[in-house]
Amino acid sequence: MVDAAEAGEGITKTDVIIIGAGPVGLFAVFELGLLGLQSAVIDILDRPGGQCAELYPEKPILDIPSRLKVTGQELTDDLMKQIEPFSPIMHFNQMADSLVKQDNGHWRMTTDMGIVIEAPVVCIAGGGGSFTPKKPKIEGIEPFENKSLFYAVRKMEQFKGKNLLVAGGGDSALDWVVALSDHVESMHLVHRRAEFRAVQDTVDKMRELEAAGKVTVHVADVPRLNGSDGQIASVTLKSKESGEEYDVKCDTMLAFYGLTMKLGPIAGWGINMESNRVAVDTEKFETSEPGIFCIGDMCTYPGKLKLILSGFHESALMAHACFHYARPDQKLKFEHTTSSSNIQQKLGQ
Ligand SMILES: Cc1cc2nc3c(=O)[nH]c(=O)nc-3n(C[C@H](O)[C@H](O)[C@H](O)COP(=O)(O)OP(=O)(O)OC[C@H]3O[C@@H](n4cnc5c(N)ncnc54)[C@H](O)[C@@H]3O)c2cc1C
Repeated sequence: MVDAAEAGEGITKTDVIIIGAGPVGLFAVFELGLLGLQSAVIDILDRPGGQCAELYPEKPILDIPSRLKVTGQELTDDLMKQIEPFSPIMHFNQMADSLVKQDNGHWRMTTDMGIVIEAPVVCIAGGGGSFTPKKPKIEGIEPFENKSLFYAVRKMEQFKGKNLLVAGGGDSALDWVVALSDHVESMHLVHRRAEFRAVQDTVDKMRELEAAGKVTVHVADVPRLNGSDGQIASVTLKSKESGEEYDVKCDTMLAFYGLTMKLGPIAGWGINMESNRVAVDTEKFETSEPGIFCIGDMCTYPGKLKLILSGFHESALMAHACFHYARPDQKLKFEHTTSSSNIQQKLGQ
């Protein structure tokens, strides 16, 4: 049976560990839930949706069956609602890092934040790879990285009482300006343009904070960080309007200059890869390692199409195949949602 609660020594036990909270990883939670299997999901991002939420949240997707038009963010929000009845364990801001087979055949996953999860099945839904922050072109930034310059907020307490400078003009930058405004001592926001790319509601909230004197907005480039031993003392900005350089006193910087996707630790887990993708069969979507499955953009097989609907199909077949690992002593009964009172009850219908 599922033991999703913390079991001894901080190890979470579940049925399936899903790597990636993109659309395919989220739908996998649903397909597994229909079969009574519990999932724990890990994503390096601080929110669900993968490429849909990160790369095209407001663009319409036109090829999701029966959805005439749905934006990347709407699809993500609806998938999150759809999986709610199955209460998946969500671990955001975590890189799925090491994967080790246990004596009982189960897998032990450890994230880079030290979370440990054990399950009989691992499902890789890592898409184009883990989203990794792009580094800004600022000379000599390395000594400051992860000491006083950060590319993500992993724990909000880390920023409590800081004199913070946030760089960037998209959703991440503005979301964190708003979320951290009550935690920091002072806050500056620097962006190279006067217009922001974040959703209007967040831009409005940031402007309210600006009007209340809680954030100072600069339209400028960041040529230099000043300080020593990894500790920022001030950041030099170059005004876009006048071209003049000036220093802003701060002790911490958060830089949001966009994201790239990198395969990351998955490459080191000993599974067969083809052209940087995980090779799977098309019956079960299992990898060369029994008990490890791969679906969505990260898997490859003859004829693979990198489409959301392909990933949805792969999720259903993967869920049925991995049932036997999670419930070796049970027989899988195929049921339709329209006629199964068991499923309808699970979904609160
Ligand atoms: C601009 C654009 C437009 C598109 N338009 C369409 C369209 O109209 N229709 C369509 O069907 N498809 C479209 N796609 C493709 C579609 O977005 C992908 O097929 C889909 O996102 C794949 O989903 P996924 O869940 O497999 O992967 P992703 O969406 O890439 O999500 C994977 C997640 O896994 C996480 N991850 C990876 N490795 C790790 C790790 N080690 N630890 C923690 N987290 C990890 C990543 O951070 C990411 O959040 C488009 C893509 C782009 C870029």
